[in-house]
Amino acid sequence: MKYVVVTGGVMSGLGKGIVSASVGKILKSYGLTVRMLKMDGYLNVDPGTLNPYEHGEVFVLNDGTETDLDLGHYERFLNLNLDRDSSVTNGKIYKEVIDNERKGIYLGKTVQIIPHVTNVIIEHIKQINESDVVIIEVGGTVGDMENMVFLEALRQISIKEKVVFVHLSYVPLSSGNEQKTKPTQHSIRNLLQLGIYPDIIIGRCGTDLQQETKNKISLFGGVEKSCVISDPDAEIYELPLLFDRQNLGNIVMNKLDFEINQEAEKNKFKELDLWKNLVENLKNKSKSVSIGVVGKYAHLEDAYLSIKEAVKHSQMNLNIPVNFEIVEAESENLEEKLKKFDGIIVPGGFGIRGIEGKIRAVNFCRINKIPFLGLCLGFQVAVIEFARNVCNMDDANSSEAAQECPNPVIDLLFEQIKISDLGGTMRVGAYPCVIKSDTLAHEIYNKDTIDRRYRHRYGLNLKYKEILERNGMLFSGTSPDGKLMEILELNKEVHPFFIASQYHPEFSSRPEKPEELFMGLVKACAEKIKRL
Ligand code: GLN
Repeated sequence: MKYVVVTGGVMSGLGKGIVSASVGKILKSYGLTVRMLKMDGYLNVDPGTLNPYEHGEVFVLNDGTETDLDLGHYERFLNLNLDRDSSVTNGKIYKEVIDNERKGIYLGKTVQIIPHVTNVIIEHIKQINESDVVIIEVGGTVGDMENMVFLEALRQISIKEKVVFVHLSYVPLSSGNEQKTKPTQHSIRNLLQLGIYPDIIIGRCGTDLQQETKNKISLFGGVEKSCVISDPDAEIYELPLLFDRQNLGNIVMNKLDFEINQEAEKNKFKELDLWKNLVENLKNKSKSVSIGVVGKYAHLEDAYLSIKEAVKHSQMNLNIPVNFEIVEAESENLEEKLKKFDGIIVPGGFGIRGIEGKIRAVNFCRINKIPFLGLCLGFQVAVIEFARNVCNMDDANSSEAAQECPNPVIDLLFEQIKISDLGGTMRVGAYPCVIKSDTLAHEIYNKDTIDRRYRHRYGLNLKYKEILERNGMLFSGTSPDGKLMEILELNKEVHPFFIASQYHPEFSSRPEKPEELFMGLVKACAEKIKRL
């Protein structure tokens, strides 16, 4: 097995996930089978219980793994489905070591970080097989206490296996606009102290690295000048193209001893050319449609990252420019703020905060016939709004927001009722959803069954299904047994585009495979503008 390890220097937030995904994308375009692995230093067993304030959104995989947003980047760039083996945290590794110790597996031995913890890490890495290359991203920055043990395990692997170490570092500009390499020099020194010699150094800077900067980094880092690569400010999907232009693919392929034959070269050209065409559409400067997301983490774009990306994928495929904005659900003058949008998304969320604002946003869309897409909690608040304002149940609510509510139109899923722990206890992962014919959902998907990813505890309370239907709400998607309502919509004669899903379509959207609900919304917005 061959590996590319991506480490970070100087500070976090440089886009290491996107760099790793871009390297993966380039290698895949040569026709290689690529797997991705993210290593994180924190002690949470998975990021499912982390607050979006601290960690951005929780990304959900098909198998129900709750993970961090970098895995979303991997899936989007490589157009593949990852699984629970695609991420490890210190929490997961230590839990395994301690469980082993309790089971008596190390009986008689002193259990130590080296070799017991490093061995478990190596086992995790080695269990990924059936691919040509594994790209491993180490979270945080080199020198963080938390990641030391991962780097030590990777150093050990590199003794016997082919490993290319890519170090992403920050190159700040001085007040005189000079590119400064000192922080990068320090971070390389940290890496060398751990016994790791970088093969490629990528400099994250506002602009391309100057030759002089590259020379310095090459000298201090002990890498060839051609192996110092620029990572300037750019649209994220542009990065594989920018790297390819700097020959990064070739360099990595050579260092890993992969032969680049004519077919591989042709493959790469074809795949990156298609990608380029999609990326070009993001630069379309004609009149854009405006989409607002009514969320409770309005100042924190990463909390709604997959939604933002899913909208971009529609933009890339439809060549319709979109202006995307997040609006705080708790704004006093919410309706005033929503007026400027051609379409509105009400995203997922947990807890009470923001729910009433989201209900108001749905009401605004329904009454004013603004294209509306509800996602997970967005589905639930659409039900509450409809129950209150169309079915005249003023006290309708979700039992998540109001425990003693007399009309809990949204209630705990029956299989969830006995669950009291908050970690790893949701209906999470991919499940099939059956779509009724002659509905908006069917028109959008043009399929009878889809698989989408879920992450929720609550759902439609079946006791209220009939009254909602009688008043015009249509449940156009259900679980195969018909017991869980998964898609709702309003008739096209009543509203041009009003649809919501209990699943999270944003987790399944990729540039090369845009998710249909987002495509539907963007198209509906464009039609609305045309009509005006
Ligand atoms: N809080 C709601 C539930 O648990 C919605 C979850 C979500 O939006 N992801 O069902």
